[in-house]
Amino acid sequence: MLIAEILHNKGSDVVTVKPGATVNDLITLLSEHRIGAVVVSEDGVTVEGIVSERDVVGVLGARGTAALGETVGSVCTRAVVTASPNDRLDELMRLMTDGRFRHVPVVVDGRLQGIVSIGDVVKARIAQLEVEQQALTGYITSGG
Ligand code: AMP
Repeated sequence: MLIAEILHNKGSDVVTVKPGATVNDLITLLSEHRIGAVVVSEDGVTVEGIVSERDVVGVLGARGTAALGETVGSVCTRAVVTASPNDRLDELMRLMTDGRFRHVPVVVDGRLQGIVSIGDVVKARIAQLEVEQQALTGYITSGG
């Protein structure tokens, strides 16, 4: 399965946040959209960073509530691993496992096209396994 198929099913909406927003704004955004990470972007299409709930917990743990006024740009991850719609699901799973992150923005020609979370990956993989299981069951019950 390709990443393009996952995006086709879930849509291309990506919540972004400007680097100048505060950690407090970020928490509101994550909470309102019930998501775990947002792409950091000034124009909404160029990926400048990514920031997740884990980063929020990290800065709050390190500096307490004073961190709520810090900018997203100062707490986000700048070296973002991205994927292409033509990448395969198993390649994406390896990227997430090796990098220990649960979100991967999808980019084409430098423009943000979507985001895939670990939840999307698990959903797609379960659907794939169900199809395989049905095919195998059909093969066995039809006697080959
Ligand atoms: P997550 O598991 O997505 O909550 O992210 C865990 C950590 O990895 C956080 O510090 C994120 O900023 C960072 N992170 C999340 N996604 C990516 C990505 N695609 N590339 C690089 N770092 C990431």
